[in-house]
Amino acid sequence: MGAVLVDQFGRRAVDLRVSLTDRCNLRCTYCMPEEGLQWLAKPDLLTDEEIIRLVRIAVTDLGVREVRFTGGEPMLRPGLVRIVQECARLEPRPELSLTTNGIGLARNATALKEAGLDRINVSLDTLDPEVFRTLTRRDRHQDVIAGLAAAVEAGLTPVKINSVLMRGVNEHEAPALLEWSLEQGYELRFIEQMPLDAQHGWDRASMVTAEEILASLAERFALTPEPAASRGAAPAERWLVDGGPARVGVIASVTRPFCRDCDRTRLTADGQVRNCLFATGETDLREALRSGGSDLEIAELWRKAMWGKKAGAGIDDPDFLQPARPMSAIGG
Ligand code: SAM
Ligand code: SF4
Repeated sequence: MGAVLVDQFGRRAVDLRVSLTDRCNLRCTYCMPEEGLQWLAKPDLLTDEEIIRLVRIAVTDLGVREVRFTGGEPMLRPGLVRIVQECARLEPRPELSLTTNGIGLARNATALKEAGLDRINVSLDTLDPEVFRTLTRRDRHQDVIAGLAAAVEAGLTPVKINSVLMRGVNEHEAPALLEWSLEQGYELRFIEQMPLDAQHGWDRASMVTAEEILASLAERFALTPEPAASRGAAPAERWLVDGGPARVGVIASVTRPFCRDCDRTRLTADGQVRNCLFATGETDLREALRSGGSDLEIAELWRKAMWGKKAGAGIDDPDFLQPARPMSAIGG
């Protein structure tokens, strides 16, 4: 292997997040406005072949070991199954995972498993269909529940659930979500709401914090911290529930950032490398691809992009600037 993706602080990126589209069939309030969001122009989107080539370069030339497909909603990408299939043929074989809102998963879970998908995260913030409708502005709660069950059926286990709690909307649901997830055998992780919504409506003061989530869970469950050593570069801090083996995770991106251990690199659906969710700059690989750049040249651009990664996301810095690109166009 040639170069690896290291930065000036000695972190090595081995986990690649690939956004397959910026479009979505939900409109979660913490992510997208009801309407008016401009989609990326079709000609600007990477083709399936271009995505597969960039993932190959990342895996075979740059030491990436895990590839997670996300978006927008990645299941809206018609070529998803084939992209997974091609990535599963790479040597060394990367771990392949998907973050999805679960709509359409009931139909696709088996094909994705057969294509080589290893793991799946499904986003679900509420057990109440009415709250789901308020939060996502769509009436699709049942599709997500069915998608989760299909993922288990297809063997995409352990199925993980991502939940974002919003003050005054679903903040009271933490214990019920955990109880239900334990019953169903899903591994639940709460994510603190981050300033990445397209409408720039995030407000630190009204964000539900990890501390509040844990306090609310502790009213119903005994939580014991898992040793930090077992966390590695994973962003979730985990707790054993009622002595284990069941666990719950909390990703405290805002109040307890994990930048020091970050091992991620990101590729947007229009072919830009981002070295951080909160980066304000990007490196254009699409141009390099389309102007005949060699694998070596592209790998070098990627390596330089990661070398410039900042020490931390800086959400708490007084001069923090929310990136122009919203979460849905970065790839969460
Ligand atoms: N559409 C897919 C989904 O919802 O799982 C994949 C993309 S979505 C951007 C990835 C994850 O980011 C989801 O779990 C979602 O809840 C989370 N997310 C979106 N906006 C967020 C925000 N402002 N703060 C924290 N998490 C957010
Ligand atoms: Fe769509 Fe996921 Fe954003 Fe919700 S969080 S609007 S499902 S991209």
